Amino acid sequence: MLFKTGPVTTTGVETCAFFDPLDFAATPTIQMFCVPTVYLDRDVMGTDPGQGVTVNSLLLRPKATGQVTLRDANANSLPRVDTQIFGHPDDLARTLAGFRFARRVIAAAPMESMVQQEIFPGADVTSDQAIADHCKRMVKTGYHPVGTCRMGHDEDPLAVLTSDLRVRGVQQLRVVDASMMPNIISGNTNAIVMAVAHRATELILNSLVAVKKDAVYE
Ligand SMILES: Cc1cc2nc3c(=O)[nH]c(=O)nc-3n(C[C@H](O)[C@H](O)[C@H](O)COP(=O)(O)OP(=O)(O)OC[C@H]3O[C@@H](n4cnc5c(N)ncnc54)[C@H](O)[C@@H]3O)c2cc1C
Repeated sequence: MLFKTGPVTTTGVETCAFFDPLDFAATPTIQMFCVPTVYLDRDVMGTDPGQGVTVNSLLLRPKATGQVTLRDANANSLPRVDTQIFGHPDDLARTLAGFRFARRVIAAAPMESMVQQEIFPGADVTSDQAIADHCKRMVKTGYHPVGTCRMGHDEDPLAVLTSDLRVRGVQQLRVVDASMMPNIISGNTNAIVMAVAHRATELILNSLVAVKKDAVYE
């Protein structure tokens, strides 16, 4: 920061690609992050951070869905969170395809002229089995959990919220956060939460105005 050189001169993820690595369909299934430095998680041994490039692929719409359930009847107990990562075989297949696509990007001009070696997991990791083992060992969350309290139709038994964010069966309670999403979106979640919050303020203000109008008429 003092000399305006080194890793802190980057904003982090400088480039990002949204695509489908299997059939290049119009709907992206992978978000690929490219960071112009080597950054590794604490559980990666024998490799030092340094100059280089890190490419991560994030599965956007996993077919497996996790669960958040109550541990017991005590309101102070922490809930059980089961992420179900790779709980559906297609999720691993697409993750493998994303991994192989990242290698194709690195091997393409002009990147290949700048890259001396693949330091992690290493160029010798090539078989589907070896790459799958690597993915299973290193997989992390993208920090985009949604839908634990989802909005939906009256007929949907798992829909907690009505279309105006009210909790079914409870008076004067709305939920305004990422948990309201019926499905996970193909991208980062923060902007959607802000949009939902904006919409919620309109809904709440409109309902207050309606209440006030009624009061005047009475
Ligand atoms: C490490 C990380 C990186 C991320 N990076 C990105 C990114 O780059 N781009 C992007 O779009 N999204 C990103 N996300 C996801 C994004 O931050 C979330 O989707 C979004 O913040 C969810 O908003 P929310 O309002 O549902 O929950 P939160 O933002 O988690 O807000 C919940 C709030 O409730 C408060 N709270 C909890 N319990 C109580 C209680 N009992 N009483 C009172 N208050 C309570 C918490 O303190 C918190 O302020 C990232 C998330 C993480 C964790």
